[in-house]
Amino acid sequence: MMKPLRCLAVVVGIVALLDTPTAAAELSAGVARVDLTPPLEMGATLGGYGERMSRPATGVHDRIWAKALVVSDGERKYVVVTADVLGFPPPLKPALVERLADAGWTAEQVLLLPSHSHTSIEMNAIHPGNTFGLAPLGIYMPELYELTLDRLEQVVREAAQALEPVSVGTGRLAIEGWNRNRRRTAQYAERDLTLTRVDRLDGRPLAVLVNWTAHPTFMSGEDMEFSAGWPGHLQRTLEALIGEGVSVMYYNGAEGDQSPIARVDSGESHWERAERYGRELAIVCNGLYVEVTSERDVTFEYALQSFAAPPRGWHPDFMQTGGAEYGLSEKLLAELLPRLMPGESTIPVLRLGDLVIVGVPGEMAASLGREIKTYTAGVTGARFPVIGGLANEWISYILPEDEYEAGGYEASVSFYGASLGPTVVAAAKQAVSELTTEAQRAQRKE
Ligand SMILES: [Zn+2]
Repeated sequence: MMKPLRCLAVVVGIVALLDTPTAAAELSAGVARVDLTPPLEMGATLGGYGERMSRPATGVHDRIWAKALVVSDGERKYVVVTADVLGFPPPLKPALVERLADAGWTAEQVLLLPSHSHTSIEMNAIHPGNTFGLAPLGIYMPELYELTLDRLEQVVREAAQALEPVSVGTGRLAIEGWNRNRRRTAQYAERDLTLTRVDRLDGRPLAVLVNWTAHPTFMSGEDMEFSAGWPGHLQRTLEALIGEGVSVMYYNGAEGDQSPIARVDSGESHWERAERYGRELAIVCNGLYVEVTSERDVTFEYALQSFAAPPRGWHPDFMQTGGAEYGLSEKLLAELLPRLMPGESTIPVLRLGDLVIVGVPGEMAASLGREIKTYTAGVTGARFPVIGGLANEWISYILPEDEYEAGGYEASVSFYGASLGPTVVAAAKQAVSELTTEAQRAQRKE
């Protein structure tokens, strides 16, 4: 349906926990990892392709992991959790925060960043609001939901127990030939590869964060084994190259319209394509890693901006694409959307030195991500703004208005009409404006 332009960005609230907003801090950090791979006998399903019809995974090609990085300045703490999964359904993070409340964690301090692997836990299998029992959409598995929550809770608690003093630094490379815009070749592709190192004071690496923007979609609906996809190969290879027990934590960007480009001569095997892509990208990351220097005193700020989403609805193309893929009628959709999709969402922002992660709750087109990154650099003066894609929860694809109107697959899996893109961008800018500006920082130094 065509929707009239509406007033954008109904900002309903802001939570900014900035006790000492401009002070650089000497930080401590702790890291932990947990194997998220469900036991095969549980019959867990794989997410990303409706054609799998909720058949259980047949094996484990490579394990999927969640990793937590807790950062603290002694008074405030924050946790970044990366995970080799498709995405997190909206009810998951609130449930995790509730479990962690006794240890002093609140929603503002927890950032979940899934890789968007398409050979990992089905998102709707861990969505307690999914009571519809539709095989193409994914069937809720309470025991898988509990197991996933148990493990996420465990990884945060373990990382928080392992704090030690650290230095932090970020760097960036523009790389060509690794991704493309899958909607239209002439459209924007995001070339930034951004890497953050968190080092112990003796220089040994503790954690490395890698932000690169591309769908993990070498595997298709016929591939039925658990795998972290190319991000898994990237993380394992970079961990081996750096050594010393480092944890490499991959997170995606505004990947809504970004596909990976297979390495030459990768052959027809989806698994080989994923492996070569991840391994070779890890080698590029290692070249960047050795160039990045870390500092002891870094800015540490975070905020969480809520916003009201536009009214739920579906695109006229939905019945041809997503509707067919997921076996949905319009009547069912009208019932299903309010159960699965929230009426409001949030934008998390985290600043660690020259890195600013702006989280978006879904699959954003790279051009909108670029707009947010440019704005963030201008306001904060931070040299390395990035988008944390699918942050905390998945609320659908997030497109520019004209791209929504143009239709196609991504528009058909965008459930809040044409104004969702501008609404999320406005909320992201609002969230970024809660961080200390470059001018304030300069003033503080005088
Ligand atoms: Zn996707």
